[in-house]
Amino acid sequence: MAIEGLEKAFTQWGIEHAEKQACWQFTNCPANIYLRCPAFTGHAGRRCWLMAGSFSGKNPYCIHSKKLKDCTECSFYKEVKNTT
Ligand code: SF4
Repeated sequence: MAIEGLEKAFTQWGIEHAEKQACWQFTNCPANIYLRCPAFTGHAGRRCWLMAGSFSGKNPYCIHSKKLKDCTECSFYKEVKNTT
C-alpha cells in the first residue's frame, strides 16, 4: 500500500514536472544557444515569448520564434497557456 502510494506520487510528480519545463527543455534547444538566451538569463523559461520571442521586439533571440514569426504558433506557448 505504501509503495503504491509512493509510485503514484512519483508518477504525478513526473507529470507535473514535465508540465513545468522551461522552453529550452521543451524545445530541446542546444546549450550553446539557450545559455545566452534572454529567457534563460532572465529566468523566464515559462514566459520566453516576452524575453526572447515575438513579443520581445523586432529581433527575437529565439531560433524557433524566428522560424515561426509568431510565438502564438509555438507548441510551447500553447502548452504553457493551456496549463496556467
Ligand atoms: S518560439 Fe516563442 S514561445 Fe516558443 S520557445 Fe521560442 S520564444 Fe518561447
